[in-house]
Amino acid sequence: MKCSICKSSAAIYFRRNEGIALCADCLIWNLENKVRRTVSKYDMLKPADRIAVAISGGKDSLSLLKILSKLTAKFPRCELFAVMVDEGIRGYRDRILSDAKAFCEILGIPWAVVSFKELYGLALDEMLAARPGENPCSYCAVLRRKALNNAARVLKADKLALAHNLDDVVQTFLLNLMLGDPDRALRALSPVSPRAPGAVPRIKPLFRIPEKELALYAYLNGIPIPSSACPYGDRALRNDVRAALNLLELGHPGIKYSILRSAQSLASLAECPSGGGTGICRVCGGPSSGDICRACAIAEGNWRRDIAVGHPGAPRANPRSAQARSPPSAGAGP
Ligand code: SF4
Ligand code: ZN
Ligand code: ZN
Repeated sequence: MKCSICKSSAAIYFRRNEGIALCADCLIWNLENKVRRTVSKYDMLKPADRIAVAISGGKDSLSLLKILSKLTAKFPRCELFAVMVDEGIRGYRDRILSDAKAFCEILGIPWAVVSFKELYGLALDEMLAARPGENPCSYCAVLRRKALNNAARVLKADKLALAHNLDDVVQTFLLNLMLGDPDRALRALSPVSPRAPGAVPRIKPLFRIPEKELALYAYLNGIPIPSSACPYGDRALRNDVRAALNLLELGHPGIKYSILRSAQSLASLAECPSGGGTGICRVCGGPSSGDICRACAIAEGNWRRDIAVGHPGAPRANPRSAQARSPPSAGAGP
């Protein structure tokens, strides 16, 4: 089958919801163009922005880094750097992060790492060993969000770019509905979070790109794809939601886009405050809908209060970034 765009090369992918076939070059072009239009439509970036890209080391975040490095190449005053979180998952995250650092260095993009151990006093493995039976992902996600925001503030980023794709956004929406948190469900839909006290504005340039297409993009661009999965991931409800959505998409191409559109209409009807909390956590100074943020509430349970909340650790930067991009001073607070 020939590519529907260039009409000459052999297609490698059929986009069922649009009924078009794409060759490798056109798929890459089309996907990057879609991200460019999303960035422009939602006014995600300014020409002199300092952008922190949250890197998990997976295909999505590394693809986002590559796409943003291409999109921002025309803007010399725009700065891009990668921020990685080491949750402390033995035999998993450390290996993925070393591949991610190598990829950043190939792209010439500075990186910094912040770890749960430095920020909260304990690695995720240690926290979970002390709390058997807890859902690892619900702890991890809250602490990770705070770690990223903290790192972005320390690094004086104007924006924090997240690699949430279409599948992630729809899954998160449905998950939060199932968990009885409609406010959080609607907030998950927002491609740009508005300015809120203590929070670096988050942008989601990939929120209209399906996970399957990002996997192809990563493969075609030689982006490293982790061979192992998080050992705690199999306990996540998200896996069941993902499987159910993929099954629905198979029989009803485009259903993920339909859910996104319907959910966004609901959000506008509800006039959802898409930025999360409007207040400031009295402990860490980060964003919070109450007196104290969820991460600090978790940290107050078992972890040393002084390390957990009083002295947010500065991310460790690679030596190249220290010279090239005026890194944060050690211990600088938000
Ligand atoms: Fe954290 Fe869960 Fe993701 Fe593992 S699967 S990194 S525990 S959120
Ligand atoms: Zn083509
Ligand atoms: Zn807090």
